[in-house]
Amino acid sequence: MPAITVDDLTVLPRIKEPGLGDQPRPVWKVTTAPKGYEGEGFPVRRAFAGIDPQQLDPFIHMDQMGEVEYAPGEPKGTPWHPHRGFETVTYMIDGVMDHHDNHGGGGSITNGDTQWMTAGSGILHIEAPPEWLVQKGGLFHGIQLWVNLPRAAKLNDPRYQDIHSGEVRLLTSADAGALVRVIAGEVDGHAGPGSTYTPMSLVHATIEPGARLELPWPVEHNALVYVLSGRGSVGLDRQPVEMGQTAVLGAGDYLTVDAAGSQESRSPKLEVLVLGGRPIREPLAWAGPFVMNTKAEVLAAYEDFQKGRFGHIPA
Ligand code: MN
Repeated sequence: MPAITVDDLTVLPRIKEPGLGDQPRPVWKVTTAPKGYEGEGFPVRRAFAGIDPQQLDPFIHMDQMGEVEYAPGEPKGTPWHPHRGFETVTYMIDGVMDHHDNHGGGGSITNGDTQWMTAGSGILHIEAPPEWLVQKGGLFHGIQLWVNLPRAAKLNDPRYQDIHSGEVRLLTSADAGALVRVIAGEVDGHAGPGSTYTPMSLVHATIEPGARLELPWPVEHNALVYVLSGRGSVGLDRQPVEMGQTAVLGAGDYLTVDAAGSQESRSPKLEVLVLGGRPIREPLAWAGPFVMNTKAEVLAAYEDFQKGRFGHIPA
């Protein structure tokens, strides 16, 4: 798993340990992501399936894309399609994905890069592997997270952030047993590069076998831990988790994730995404690629898209 990594964790800034009186977050539940297919047929795990939308808020949806090893000619993406009312965050861990939108945003992301697309009032985009990768085949692994926008920002102008892996803030735990990558938001006062409308944090942590990660987490944010690979446990009462599972945490000042002492050789460390934000607490009307507050707004989005008001696919 490349993402971005460092050889010597001890040179990184250390995250402070929980203080006296800080409360650990309990695990409310652990869910297992069902497998499905997206776009033109790439395999995904639906990370948040079965979780109450109120517990996900401000997040709506997350897919783990792959991990899959494509044969030559096999890599798949999505055709041009619209979005309105939220943000799509694509984090590539292995492989390459090309993005283009009809507002001039786009680029190629690979190995630890993130594209943060604010659909806002409406955008058309395409997400696909580059032609050379289609011909050659290869490894493909990443996530796509959907972050809701509050009513006041749903019709903002579209925005595109290209976050290179080298900009990601790297930290380590107090005993240097975990690599913590802050992609957006902040951990213990160390801010990541992603700029968000809704206060939130997105972290990718790699935890050495047998090590514990203690992560301070804003008390007003929700907290979710998704296991990309490996096995371990979440919370002080050590709820077991493994690849494809999400732990939903309750309130508190910090969270803990423990990597099991023995891991499979194909995934020698525990890889988790930790994410949370300030809940928006507004009515949710979600259909297909549109996330609005009311059903009438979703129907208006379909009508605007069909009438060409999202603009046109670039030549
Ligand atoms: Mn899309």
